[in-house]
Amino acid sequence: METYWDSPAVDDLLKAAQHIGRDQSLVLLGGGNCSVKIPGEASTQVELPVLLVKGSGHEMATLTKDGLAPLDLKELQRVFAEGAITQDSLPLVLEQLKLDKSAPSPSVESLVHASIPQKFVLHSHSDVSQSVTDTSKPHDLAREVWGPDVLIVDYASPGVDLGTAIKEAVEATPQANAIVVIGHGIFTYADTAREALARHLDIVEMAMAFARKRAEDFKSFTQARPDLGPDFTSAMSKKVSEIRQKVSEFAGRPVTATIAAREEQFDQELITVVQRGPATPDHVTWVGPWVICDSSLEDYAHRYRDYVYRNATRTSRSDLLSPTTPLPALYPRVIAVPGVGLVAIGRTVSEAQKTGEITRHTLEIADLAEQLDTYTPPTEDHIFDLEFWKPQMEKYSRKTTELPDEGRNVLVTGAASGLGRACAEEYLRSGANVIAGDRSAGVL
Ligand SMILES: [Zn+2]
Repeated sequence: METYWDSPAVDDLLKAAQHIGRDQSLVLLGGGNCSVKIPGEASTQVELPVLLVKGSGHEMATLTKDGLAPLDLKELQRVFAEGAITQDSLPLVLEQLKLDKSAPSPSVESLVHASIPQKFVLHSHSDVSQSVTDTSKPHDLAREVWGPDVLIVDYASPGVDLGTAIKEAVEATPQANAIVVIGHGIFTYADTAREALARHLDIVEMAMAFARKRAEDFKSFTQARPDLGPDFTSAMSKKVSEIRQKVSEFAGRPVTATIAAREEQFDQELITVVQRGPATPDHVTWVGPWVICDSSLEDYAHRYRDYVYRNATRTSRSDLLSPTTPLPALYPRVIAVPGVGLVAIGRTVSEAQKTGEITRHTLEIADLAEQLDTYTPPTEDHIFDLEFWKPQMEKYSRKTTELPDEGRNVLVTGAASGLGRACAEEYLRSGANVIAGDRSAGVL
């Protein structure tokens, strides 16, 4: 019996998604998504039109059928058109319209995918498009880069707001096949995956070509990231462990620190520039509202509390105004350390490394935006709205499940066998960073 999974369109979608996913300058840490619409046919098991959309938390580069969520397309379009979905009810509505309850949670951008009539939709958080649109007059620059055939849509919060903005833009200009959302990324769409992918790469290349013309030293975002290597001096390592200790004491829990970028690898002026904010609000959970901290930890925490208070008042979020509500990021995620560079902080090694990765991308995005115009990332209200949107908070907490020894460094000697090995394995399971040593180094 044929089901929507048997459609060759699913394989076409996966190939296109993986192609985009292989380029870190297009998708970073689960950024970007994709979908395909499978029409309903009475003669098969596919009775309803189905929207297969990427599940939240799945990576484009390694996307398989298991990472797609099937949704009842007609019903989703109907409840959306009736205005029956709110920002808070969206995750529940999407769960209810899932045709396979064991599938992952559909992307919060599913309304965008449902609003575009074409069969295939590809979405990326392209670095170069962010450099073009994170500027002081993004519409003017975007028009210059992409011409009149690409729809330019103002930043809107992912979910109902972005779904509505895209629906209106597509209805007003049905002949278009690409949208750039300011401060967010690119959507391309077509009736074949090949065309949607070609258009996507075309939009990216147009921006790259423009950047190469305008910004003298710009080559490409796809060039290899600087290899930090293990060649830190002992003075640098000492400073990093001092920072780690200071932040751990301040946060009241052990944290991990890693060097995100060494001082000589970037222009020091970018430290101030980047503090205007993350390139896209989606990065806030990793780098915080101002990306880099070059003040004291106390000042940072004070500033963060003010930011939450100001915006919780604006949005009537009484849950965040209570002094007992735990806030996610009272300590900075990236700290400028003279003599070292940028130090990324995380509850685990993996979290600190991801924060470091986003920081390096942000430096490049801001650097190019400054050369094209002035780096002007999305505003604080958009950043807050995403940081404290419940589905985003849940996504973040899913990625960082708390384990009892997270953030702790454990040195295990004699770790190649017996009791030492068992200890090392147990500490790894409980979330510690394990440094294993043994006289029989080859066995480790
Ligand atoms: Zn997105």
